[in-house]
Amino acid sequence: MDTPLVEALDQELDALRAAGTYKRFNTLTSPQGPVVQMEGRGEVLVLSSNNYLGLAAHPDVVRAGIEGLERYGAGTASVRFICGTFEPHLTLERELAELVGTEASLTYVSCWNANEAVIPSLTTPETVILSDELNHASIIDAIRLSKPKRKVLYKHSDMDGLRAGLESCEPGQRKLVVTDGVFSMEGDLARLPEIVELAREHGAIVIVDDSHGTGVMGETGRGVAEHCGVLGEVDVITSTLGKALGGAAGGFVASSEEVCDILAQRSRPQLFSNGLPPTVACSALEAVRVLRREPERVARLRETSDWFRSALHERGFNPLDGEGAIIPIILGETAFAIRFSERLLEEHVFVTGFGFPVVPEGTARVRVQMSVALEREHLETALEAFERVGRELGLL
Ligand code: PLP
Repeated sequence: MDTPLVEALDQELDALRAAGTYKRFNTLTSPQGPVVQMEGRGEVLVLSSNNYLGLAAHPDVVRAGIEGLERYGAGTASVRFICGTFEPHLTLERELAELVGTEASLTYVSCWNANEAVIPSLTTPETVILSDELNHASIIDAIRLSKPKRKVLYKHSDMDGLRAGLESCEPGQRKLVVTDGVFSMEGDLARLPEIVELAREHGAIVIVDDSHGTGVMGETGRGVAEHCGVLGEVDVITSTLGKALGGAAGGFVASSEEVCDILAQRSRPQLFSNGLPPTVACSALEAVRVLRREPERVARLRETSDWFRSALHERGFNPLDGEGAIIPIILGETAFAIRFSERLLEEHVFVTGFGFPVVPEGTARVRVQMSVALEREHLETALEAFERVGRELGLL
């Protein structure tokens, strides 16, 4: 079709291709795992998925999803308050709350939706929202939807900036401090003990998006709050079921009974959109139970991540420091990061390159992500490919 819109979009797409920043989707023909079958590439090592605990194709998780589908069908064909809630959704919400250390939780079809539900629902016309400048896009969009009285964007993890923002608020004004738990593009952690203390001093509410921390951080995978020793002290936690907890899709808000009840009454993604498919509710529930049964997965993930970070250093790379399973290597220009990841893929190693606008201009990177499913020999093979590509492209 040759309409003015199509012509304009064609030009935009051509510009992306010319800049080397056009994203191609790779087609997988096998389940997610340490090694996948990729169309046109054959067998590929995966170092770019959020399958942190290796549960995406775990037999118990798969079986639970199948049983959920067989027992409950595809879904209720409507939103929960109109057509009802399946029992496993309630069990999942109870067990998610227990996992992250809150009274209650409420699920959504994604963490994107969870953020867009809770931040606007807790924002009154008088509210000030204080947000870390590197927060995830879903938080940024949720704040835009919230229409607070004022936004304070503080520099990344700058506690003086946060304190100054809190001090600039009027007495009695509602204040929401919103932060990623693990910053998805940097891999570093929010300074949660200080954030919680500052919030307490100023009567502010803390909202942590722990999408990359749930199942990953803390001794038993209960998240960044467990890791930082503030379990039960964060007012609101949002997280995803689309990463460590099975990896299908879905998200949740965990908080007090009252917050979850208000969200059930008022949040638009809950009132006007269907709930999780039973397949996903049942497989995510089983993923939570596997995590509880096998907390050693979390320790192994940490060991693997530490080992790979050091091994990259030994081979001359300079990954960002961190305690989690996200290991970014900053490369500079977007086109170079994409070239680097394409060359790695030609070597059968899948590591995604990220550039502007996902990360600031000039800080494009490849982001390595660890999974307990990766064995030492997978990692050695990947390191050899990194070294070959690094030398070829003049990085080493
Ligand atoms: N929050 C953070 C920090 C994320 O990294 C992501 C996913 O990339 C999301 C939210 C969105 O999660 P979901 O895929 O469940 O919408």
